[in-house]
Amino acid sequence: MIWNKEMECADRETMCAVQLERLQATVKYEYEHVPYYAAKMDKAGVKPEDIRTLEDIALLPFITKEDLADNYPSGLFAQPMENIVRIQSSSGTTGKPKIIGYTEGDMADWAESVARGLTMCGAGKNDVIHIAYGYGLFTGGLGAHAGAEAIGATVLPMSTGNTARQIMFMQDMKSDVLCCTPSYALTIAEAVEKAGIRPEDLRLRAGLFGAEPWTQSMRDKIEKGLGIRAHDIYGLTEITGPGVSTSCEENCGMHIQEDLFYPEIIDPETLKPLPAGESGELVFTTLNKRGVPMIRYRTRDICYLMDEKCECGRTTVRMSRVFGRTDDMLIVKGVNVFPSQVETVIAEFDELTLNYKLLVDRKGASDTIELMVEFAEGLIIDDIEFVENMRKRVEHALREILQIGCKVRFLNAGALPRSEGKAVRVEDRRRFE
Ligand code: ADP
Ligand code: ZN
Repeated sequence: MIWNKEMECADRETMCAVQLERLQATVKYEYEHVPYYAAKMDKAGVKPEDIRTLEDIALLPFITKEDLADNYPSGLFAQPMENIVRIQSSSGTTGKPKIIGYTEGDMADWAESVARGLTMCGAGKNDVIHIAYGYGLFTGGLGAHAGAEAIGATVLPMSTGNTARQIMFMQDMKSDVLCCTPSYALTIAEAVEKAGIRPEDLRLRAGLFGAEPWTQSMRDKIEKGLGIRAHDIYGLTEITGPGVSTSCEENCGMHIQEDLFYPEIIDPETLKPLPAGESGELVFTTLNKRGVPMIRYRTRDICYLMDEKCECGRTTVRMSRVFGRTDDMLIVKGVNVFPSQVETVIAEFDELTLNYKLLVDRKGASDTIELMVEFAEGLIIDDIEFVENMRKRVEHALREILQIGCKVRFLNAGALPRSEGKAVRVEDRRRFE
């Protein structure tokens, strides 16, 4: 089923017309309601009337995370607080949080975009939707919740943590669809196995996982461990929250809700737009938001766009899996390292779990990087020859993909903390010198 055929299956001409009309309205509205952005436009010498085609979007100045920080907490709000019905905030780990306000209309659009995503994973009104994203300022829990209510499903607002209780509810309430971060899904899958429950004993059939980067290997493990189909859902607080894009049953990237969010990919160095198929930084313009509209917001997420036809029948442009965010990109010995590259390597070894941590440090003038990773349950690591052989193989595979040496430290199964929300994969000790 498709939730909103009119928008999700529109022909290109219709979609572009909707986008242009909404873009022009958004720019005019922003110019009139947000003095900070109006000043940016004046400085760039561009007026709302200059936006005559969709391509003219390239004339507009970007909004960055720094702009949000400089305007903390509400300098980019386009409406007085009395018209704001909800505040959400990003889980950002450094600096001031980003505060976003939603009008009633913004809330309805957010629910609509998650409803489309839930429908993509086959969820409907007869399903029990088990939400194990955190509830609160983080958009995961309440975002999934709003979408599940919009499709008329039975909502189970579990929030995150207490994995044993999650599993009990999953069994007793016969949850059909699970929503959480992929790393928490893996934690749940592991706990299910440990409890001696077989995937076929659960009623779960699909999962909607997002809020952090994950790999195809991780998806395979989750699908097998829980006996479900896993879908990818992407979003960010600044643009709305989860539901900006979601993968359909074809598993070929995520359909962007293009009537609400206009995507561009830019080269992060030259800031020039890149064509479909080329990887770069994802930039979004909200097309219908009134609380805190965003024009050309630089997400810092790296992916590419796909405009080929999708077998599912939806015509919206898709974005690839997010490889990583420039914030998470480590520069070690001058080389760019993404945690997702390391995850791909680990996944090749059945002897290892997908729980890992990267430790980056500096010795003298030189950077060091060490991978801490667990042996799979049941493997004993006191066979020195076996361990040394594994070390060689993993270090070799890491060097192939990272182009730099990375030491490996093996831990017993269960030694690393389990993720319940966004997994923390990197500890960079260099910052604290
Ligand atoms: P933050 O994590 O920056 O504090 P948010 O909670 O708003 O703030 O999370 C948004 C970010 O999470 C995105 O910019 C992106 O980096 C990441 N993200 C969200 N969904 C996905 C996904 N499906 N795949 C990869 N990364 C994702
Ligand atoms: Zn599709």
